[in-house]
Amino acid sequence: MRLATFRVDGAARVGVVGDDATVTGLDDLVPGAPLDMLTAIDQWQRIAPALAEPPIRSGAGLPLDRARLLAPIPRPRRNLFCVGWNYAEHFAEGKSFRGAASPQEVPEHPALFSKNPATVTGPDSPVFHPGPRSAELDWEVELAVVIGTGGRDIDEAVALSHVFGYTVANDVSVRDFQRTRHGGQWFKGKNFDTHCPLGPWIVTADEIPDPQVLDISSRINGEPKQSSNTRYMVFGVARIIAELSNGMALEAGDVILTGTPSGVGFARNPPEFLKPGDVMEMEIGGIGVLRNRVVPYGATA
Ligand code: MG
Repeated sequence: MRLATFRVDGAARVGVVGDDATVTGLDDLVPGAPLDMLTAIDQWQRIAPALAEPPIRSGAGLPLDRARLLAPIPRPRRNLFCVGWNYAEHFAEGKSFRGAASPQEVPEHPALFSKNPATVTGPDSPVFHPGPRSAELDWEVELAVVIGTGGRDIDEAVALSHVFGYTVANDVSVRDFQRTRHGGQWFKGKNFDTHCPLGPWIVTADEIPDPQVLDISSRINGEPKQSSNTRYMVFGVARIIAELSNGMALEAGDVILTGTPSGVGFARNPPEFLKPGDVMEMEIGGIGVLRNRVVPYGATA
């Protein structure tokens, strides 16, 4: 099932996206269903059986091209948890990033950082260029995991049962802020406003039983930049959940970004960075395409 947050008549609602390219309000399908995704995730054990019968009617919803989709979780309750290097080839292309003296071996545990909830923006929403602050704006397509059942010290063997669903993320990054400022901590360069597009919707975990078989790619202005498969993750989704929940409880509605494959701008030869007007398309097979345009700093849609 594809679950979107969409705006109609000025109000945000949760909806089910049908195969006929329409979105139907969850509360139209299940009387009393919540209007926001986080509450829907909290109440999913009650909602899901009601959705199963009767089957969703075709033609009853709003055409997607008339619905304004928001990020499926427009404002997560906590920071989004992110994995740094996680695809074998991206480790290789990051050689210069980490310095020539750095050992190239894959680490025992993933690098982790976070993006604050205000970085999140939705499909087709503008992404700010940093303007005079930096010319090094970059893209990163990532599989995003939405936690459905929280827990601490989650065993890797059962970790996928804690997943509510999956969506597409773009871990937009300001490379010079990430690399050379702020003591080597990535936080600042990863936390500019609008720098975490999410969407276009959440695909529930029952439709993606194995998250390690998904094609993942990105295009800038229609030109292919990244092309890989989630099977090349060094740390798979289950392992990431186990690592993050080690001594730290995950909660329903938490979002985890799982790292990006090779082909990002800074590591290209010559390096390529985003400029206002550029269109980023992030795609994951079985989920969808997340499209955003870069706009001048501070501009609105
Ligand atoms: Mg990333």
